[in-house]
Amino acid sequence: MGSEKEYEQLLDNIYSSLPKKAETTERFEMPQFSYFTEGNKTIIKNFRAVAEKIRREPAFLSKYLSKELAVPAEQQGERLVLQRKLSGGILNKKLEEFINKYVICKQCNRPDTHIEEAGNRLQMLVCESCGASAPIR
Ligand SMILES: [Zn+2]
Repeated sequence: MGSEKEYEQLLDNIYSSLPKKAETTERFEMPQFSYFTEGNKTIIKNFRAVAEKIRREPAFLSKYLSKELAVPAEQQGERLVLQRKLSGGILNKKLEEFINKYVICKQCNRPDTHIEEAGNRLQMLVCESCGASAPIR
């Protein structure tokens, strides 16, 4: 059964000779919260890092999570402390919803966007890649 190893070697050679994926077609990698529970609290360890990665104000993201989950939230340095034990993937599900709503351009699916106030409490998501702008609902 020595051929199995040779076969893998062959595959390795094939893959390594393929050209690297072009930068422009690269899909946006969803950031994930890394968190743990402590007593009745849930602590997101990389809260500030995630906010920086998606280029949104930590306070804005914190307010969203707090409202969506109906849990008081408090920033403590790099972390966000939520006053309830949250299990399963709910936190990352909410993060994904936030990113889809407030970060990803609906035209080109890239995350290079910012939010502009358009008056009357209307916010626009403006894309720096393709120039599209769309109201946030
Ligand atoms: Zn765009």
